[in-house]
Amino acid sequence: MNVHDTEKIAGVLRGEGYAFTDRPEDAALIILNTCSIREKAEHKFLSRLGYFRRLKRKRPGLQIVVSGCIAQQEGEKFLIDNKDVDFTFGPQNIVKLPELILRDKRKAAVEENPALAETDLPAIRNDGTRAWVNIMYGCNNFCSYCVVPHTRGRERSRPTDSILNEIKTLSDEGYKEVTLLGQNVNSYRDPKNVTASFAQLLKSVNAIQGIERVRFITSHPKDLSPELICAIRDLEKVCEHIHLPLQSGSSRILSLMNRKYSYAQYLDKITELRRHIPGISITSDIITGFPTETGDDHEETLAALKEIEFDGIFAFKYSKRRYTRASEMEGQLGEDIKSDRLKTILELQDVITDKINRRLKGQTTEIIVEGESSSDTNHWTGRTRTNKIVNFTPDEKINKGMLITVSITNSFRHSLEGRPD
Ligand code: SAH
Ligand code: SF4
Repeated sequence: MNVHDTEKIAGVLRGEGYAFTDRPEDAALIILNTCSIREKAEHKFLSRLGYFRRLKRKRPGLQIVVSGCIAQQEGEKFLIDNKDVDFTFGPQNIVKLPELILRDKRKAAVEENPALAETDLPAIRNDGTRAWVNIMYGCNNFCSYCVVPHTRGRERSRPTDSILNEIKTLSDEGYKEVTLLGQNVNSYRDPKNVTASFAQLLKSVNAIQGIERVRFITSHPKDLSPELICAIRDLEKVCEHIHLPLQSGSSRILSLMNRKYSYAQYLDKITELRRHIPGISITSDIITGFPTETGDDHEETLAALKEIEFDGIFAFKYSKRRYTRASEMEGQLGEDIKSDRLKTILELQDVITDKINRRLKGQTTEIIVEGESSSDTNHWTGRTRTNKIVNFTPDEKINKGMLITVSITNSFRHSLEGRPD
């Protein structure tokens, strides 16, 4: 979501006549687009800001701007505490950037933008093959640990015709793959026709010529409908991969997290997905050390990982976030225990991922070529429909964006090795 916001910020700036530099030392304007999902992201931002602040001391004309969720969360206070920052704007106010640059008063543009979903902004995308496309903004779920509803505001779906027009343009430009973006794509409703669901949107995107693959992120388990499962099964361009964050294997913790499903209900969805779409790859997010999490709760998460066997997970230590209900809960755990549990979870998942990837050896699969490998000049990389990276050495001339078939010759924890067929 943030990467795509940055593409839009760049698109708006280009419209204002700005050119881009890789060297902050040469820049007249620096925008730091920030994330506040976990404390670690905030720390990264602060150390980067420190460097730019020193640049500004040498070059007082330099404009430093902070955007994104930290800007939203901190509001005017951020400008009071950070005199070197010229202005800030939240994720709903990228559209205001041109007027903010011209205004001489220091200001935090953090107001709600009710027109967000109806406002299409230009984006600069550099990939050429794979593109992010917003289908909705904000979130209404208020998971008790999560800052997103507080920084990105209420959930709003973008009209289907705007989404389809953007994807048609991307196809004309040669893009082959789109990833539809939303905090909870399963609750998508076309604002111009509220009976039109996410599954119907997928059907329309599937029909766009030139686009070969359709992905989406993220799905909330509580809203994963049978209609959507059938759409993934039946629409040939919709990839056999779903990212379905579980967060915890303990139903007690899930309830405290306000996730609105129990572990048993989650497991039922996994069973349905696998029944309808054999070979689907399923990935997930896990939070360790949520307030009051006991050793037994943690064991339940380990048992869930063993029972489900995800293709991969992102696991995070619980991070206390401002405005959230969990930040006020009794029973906050220490960093050591969160780290220990995180380590155990990641070690277990490594074994599972290894086992799953080993099963793929000998299989033939289609990949989209993503480019030359950064680490080895003879190697190229591509991605399977199930979202796995495949490294390979081409035996003839190939280009980024090509669809080719490879046989999987070897497997590693985070990638596969293939040979073009
Ligand atoms: N909308 C998506 C998630 C967006 S945030 C969804 O609901 O699936 C991405 C992930 O960050 C979450 O799934 C969660 O695992 C993690 N996360 C969010 N807030 C967190 C916090 N306060 N501490 C640790 N991890 C957090
Ligand atoms: Fe956060 Fe929950 Fe919304 Fe995801 S669904 S963005 S975790 S509040």
